[in-house]
Amino acid sequence: MSKLFSNYKRAPIEFVRAEGNYLFDKEGKKYLDFSSGIGVTNLGFPPQLVATLQEQVAQLWHTPNLYQNSLQEEVAEKLIGELDYLAFFANSGAEANEAAIKIARKASGKQEIISFQNSFHGRTFGSMSATGQDKIKQGFGQGVPHFSYAIFNDLDSVKALATEQTAAVMLELIQGESGVVPADKDFITQLADFCKEAGILLIIDEVQTGMGRTGSLYAFQQYGIEPDIFTLAKGLGNGVPVGAMLAKAELGKAFNYGSHGSTFGGNMLAMSASSAVLDILKSPGFLDTARQNAQALSSQLKAELSDNPKVTDIRGLGYMIGIETTENLADIVQKARDKGLIVLTAGTNVIRLLPPLSLTSEEVAQGVAILKASFQ
Ligand SMILES: *Cc1c(COP(=O)(O)O)cnc(C)c1O
Repeated sequence: MSKLFSNYKRAPIEFVRAEGNYLFDKEGKKYLDFSSGIGVTNLGFPPQLVATLQEQVAQLWHTPNLYQNSLQEEVAEKLIGELDYLAFFANSGAEANEAAIKIARKASGKQEIISFQNSFHGRTFGSMSATGQDKIKQGFGQGVPHFSYAIFNDLDSVKALATEQTAAVMLELIQGESGVVPADKDFITQLADFCKEAGILLIIDEVQTGMGRTGSLYAFQQYGIEPDIFTLAKGLGNGVPVGAMLAKAELGKAFNYGSHGSTFGGNMLAMSASSAVLDILKSPGFLDTARQNAQALSSQLKAELSDNPKVTDIRGLGYMIGIETTENLADIVQKARDKGLIVLTAGTNVIRLLPPLSLTSEEVAQGVAILKASFQ
């Protein structure tokens, strides 16, 4: 009998090794990974990251945030570039979102936050309260007050909830967990304008969409906006736990000495991973190639599956792709796994693909062939 809680449903295989974009189970079976550990190992398992982590562990992996940490400065620099943000490092997406909620409230002096129906922001009380899906909150009683939920892609529903007390609007640009639902570009442009005029802060949760996942370092760059606050986690450390909250420098006063903190946040191991990830993402041509291969994946999926009566929609941005289906999701996941491909689900009727950005065109074709066979 397992001594673990049954809060996860675990497939009956165990991965013990990885090579590039492939995972190997205990029996030695090889799987192409179209999940990246839920959008985490965005670069697969590259040897240069192994070397970086080994070197850092041999040197020093943790000191508290009571001392200088030039690796944090380095990662902040790489994350921010020419933009005008300050960074805080946490250990997860939920924690990054907690920091975002806290700075928005403190900087504005207001408490109300509008998030969206079907959103997902995490499992802590604050991030769970921001989450618009009831199933995430069931049984936990009263959440954090002053959250309300607008309809995604519906500006009027945001306006109807906005008051003098609204501190922030918080959203994912592509709702990931609930079904890979992209925000309309017009909606986001108009929302950003509305927030600016109304003096409401705009928080973008890039925990899943960030770090190259959608074809640019951050998804907001493709939407042509600059949020007041944004959060990162999943792909940031390529599997070493790390999260980040970035806010416009003018909000910096709200996070003054003693206002917020984290014991582990931004330690050397997490920062050396993040720094190496950013070097790879920013290396010349890397994101261009990822964007092209992601485009190839989308168009091949559409070519092979659009006419399949079991497939009702194929959507997404970059390497964040949802295949909406009338089939039982667990069946498709298992069929693909049996054929050597790891995929995810989202919501009630979507097969979610979050492949590593390092996928080759041969691997794209291999994944498409397995998916086609799995939907037969
Ligand atoms: C995964 C996810 C989170 C939560 O991240 P954790 O690291 O599990 O706390 C928050 N927001 C979005 C959009 C996510 O996809």
